[in-house]
Amino acid sequence: MKIQKINFKDSRKKYSILLGNNILKILPKQVKILCPRTKKIALIFDKGVPSKYKKIISNEFKKYKLTVLNFTSSEKAKTLSSVNFFLNKLLSKNFNRSDLIIGIGGGITGDLAGFVSSIYKRGINFISVPTTLLSQVDAAVGGKTGVNSNYGKNLIGSFSQPKLVVSDTLFLKSLNKKEMICGYAEILKHALINDKKFFNWLKLNTKYLFSHDSKKLIYAIKKSCNIKLFFVNKDVNEQNLRMILNFGHTFAHAIEVKNNFSKNITHGEAVLAGMILAIKLSVIKKVCSIKILSEIKKIYTENNLNYLIKKYSNVSEITSLIPYLKNDKKNNDEKINFILLKKIGKTSLPNKHKISIKDLREKIKYFTQY
Ligand code: NAD
Repeated sequence: MKIQKINFKDSRKKYSILLGNNILKILPKQVKILCPRTKKIALIFDKGVPSKYKKIISNEFKKYKLTVLNFTSSEKAKTLSSVNFFLNKLLSKNFNRSDLIIGIGGGITGDLAGFVSSIYKRGINFISVPTTLLSQVDAAVGGKTGVNSNYGKNLIGSFSQPKLVVSDTLFLKSLNKKEMICGYAEILKHALINDKKFFNWLKLNTKYLFSHDSKKLIYAIKKSCNIKLFFVNKDVNEQNLRMILNFGHTFAHAIEVKNNFSKNITHGEAVLAGMILAIKLSVIKKVCSIKILSEIKKIYTENNLNYLIKKYSNVSEITSLIPYLKNDKKNNDEKINFILLKKIGKTSLPNKHKISIKDLREKIKYFTQY
C-alpha cells in the first residue's frame, strides 16, 4: 500500500493530502494522530458512493460513537436547508468542536460537508474523502466550501481547510465516462496553465486515465493537486492569481447557464469546450499561436472528446453565449475578464485581457477559421 503525500501550508493552517490505491485502512490511525480528543464521528456519505466502500469505512470506526448520515447529492440539494438538516443532526447528538466530521463523496458532498464543519460551533474537525476524479483533483483541494443559493452557484460559503484529505483511486472505478471527463477537464486545464511537461505526459497517457489505470491516475491527481495548490498558496482568498485556475471557465460557465445546467452537457464537458474557445480567442488576439491550438485539439480528437468542440464552432452558437458571459464573477466592470493562453504552461495574468462585448462580437466572427 504505497501512499503519496502532498503538504499544504499557509499562514493559518497546514494539512496533507494522502493519495493512493486502496488506502482507506489508514483512516483510523490518521484520526487518532490528527484528532486525538475525538469521541464522536459523523460520516456524511454521498449516496452515489457504492455501498461496499460505505461498509469498509463505517467498520473502521467501530470504536467511536458513530453517526452515519446519507446525502442524495445534487446541485438542487446543495443548499442552506441541507446544511441546516446536518447541523441539527449534529446538535441533537451533542457533537462538540473536538469531535469530527468526515465527508465521503463527490464535490457537492465535499463542499457541503466542509461548509457544515466550518460553521458548526464555529468550526469542528473535518476530514475530506473525495470519491470522484473532479473532487480529487479540484474540489477537495484549496479549502473552498459552500452551497448554492437561488441567486447562483456556490454563493454562500467559507474558506476553511480540512484536517486531512484522503484520495483513494479505488473509488474511481465506479465512475462513468462523463464523470471521468469532469475530472479530466480540470487535469488538462492544470497542465495547460502551468506545466508543459505534464501536458506532454497527458498526450501519451490520457487514454490510460479513461481506462482507470490507477498508477497513471495517481500521477495525474498528484500533479493536478500540486498545480492547484501552487495557485491557491499564492492567493488563498482569490483576489488575483488564483483566477488563473478559472481558465476556460468563463465560456464554460456561460455554456452551462445557457443549457440550464442540463445533464446533457456536464461541467467538465463545458470546461473542455470553454478552454478551446478561450484558446481560439487567444489566437485571434495574437497571444497564442495556431500551432499550439492544433496541438491541444489533437488531444481531444485522439480521446474522442472533439464532439464538444464541434458544437461550439459555429458563429451563432458562440454569439448566443454572450449574455451569459457578462455575469462571470471575474468581471469587475462592463468588460469580460478573460484568462488567455500564451503557450502551453503559461497564461495571461488576470485583468490583462478585458474585452468589451462589442469587441468580442467582432472577434467571434473569426472563431470559425480555426
Ligand atoms: P458530484 O458531487 O455531483 O458527484 C458526481 C456524481 O457521482 C454524483 O451523482 C455522486 O453521487 C456520484 N459519485 C460520487 N462518488 C462516486 C463513486 N465513487 N462512484 C460512483 N458514483 C459516485 O460532482 P463532482 O463533479 O464530484 O463535483 C462537482 C461539485 O464540486 C460542484 O458542486 C462544484 O461547484 C464543486 N466544486 C468545488 C470546488 C471547490 O474548490 N470547492 C472546485 C470545483 C468544483
